[in-house]
Amino acid sequence: MNLNPVAERYSRQVLFRPIGSAGQEKLRQARVAVVGMGALGTVMATQLVRAGVGFVRLIDRDIIEPSNLQRQSLYDEGDAEAGMPKAVAAAQKLQLANSLVQIEPIVTDLTWRNAESLLSDVDVVMDGTDNFQVRYLINDVSVKHHIAWAYGGAVSSYGTTAFFRPGQTPCLVCLFGKDPGGGHDTCDTVGVIAPAVSMVASLQVVEALKYLTGNEQALASSLIHLDVWNNEFRSVHFGSANPDCPCCVHREFASLAVKTDSLTVSMCGRQTIQVRPQNPPQASLEQIAQRLQQVGAVRQNPHLLRCDLGDVQITLFADGRALIHGTDDEAKARSVYARYIGM
Ligand SMILES: [Zn+2]
Repeated sequence: MNLNPVAERYSRQVLFRPIGSAGQEKLRQARVAVVGMGALGTVMATQLVRAGVGFVRLIDRDIIEPSNLQRQSLYDEGDAEAGMPKAVAAAQKLQLANSLVQIEPIVTDLTWRNAESLLSDVDVVMDGTDNFQVRYLINDVSVKHHIAWAYGGAVSSYGTTAFFRPGQTPCLVCLFGKDPGGGHDTCDTVGVIAPAVSMVASLQVVEALKYLTGNEQALASSLIHLDVWNNEFRSVHFGSANPDCPCCVHREFASLAVKTDSLTVSMCGRQTIQVRPQNPPQASLEQIAQRLQQVGAVRQNPHLLRCDLGDVQITLFADGRALIHGTDDEAKARSVYARYIGM
């Protein structure tokens, strides 16, 4: 039997009856956004691109660091050495894996300003973030624009996932309230092992594949918890939506409505503060690099520059956002930005 190259590529997936050639064509026409290209995001994006989802947008605000390589399977030592943005490095690698898919890397943090434009033109949003602030933002866009999304989180050896469909299932606010509260374990306090992440990411992707190929009857409709070290797998059926849910019943989109940008964001336990000035610098990266060469070693690639000032390092992106490494002090990070880049 002679198959054309496209049919050959997806032949094993098409042989799987619930997908078949009709499902494969639906995947080709599908659009998915992955928010966060860390451990969950790299696994999800790899599976979605290789499966032949026609358009995949990869959104991430961070650069690759050596501590990512233990579990963020798309990246290598050269990427960490070069300080590549995760979204860009991931897009380059995945394009090599499947040139038929349109991949769009976006180097930014998701905020109320850009969430609707980046997430409302896709069929499914995949949550690869590590925080509830962004998840509530995704949930708002999901309910407001009627877009399904796959929630996922993994730390230590355990994780949780759920697939939300507005109008069909409860939403994140129905399940967790307006604020799940602080004090969670994070990857920076209790660590994380790659198999836990891969399991959660795979469960997120399989639900997306069911949804995108028209197999909604196969969806779990449950909150799923697993712990790969302690051999636990629990599935709690959603039940119905909260009849008084502020988000999906009363359509109050709190995260989209906040409309304030905190100038600085601490990057969870990493001795890194993100600074996003209200008014980005007018000078180009090139001009800023020339100026910074007077005070420290500067390295540059098309996406960012890095300057080593001794006690702190600056990573400056083309949109004016910066990561100040080597401090947990937001005031200090702002002053480093003001002194060396200007705000
Ligand atoms: Zn709700």
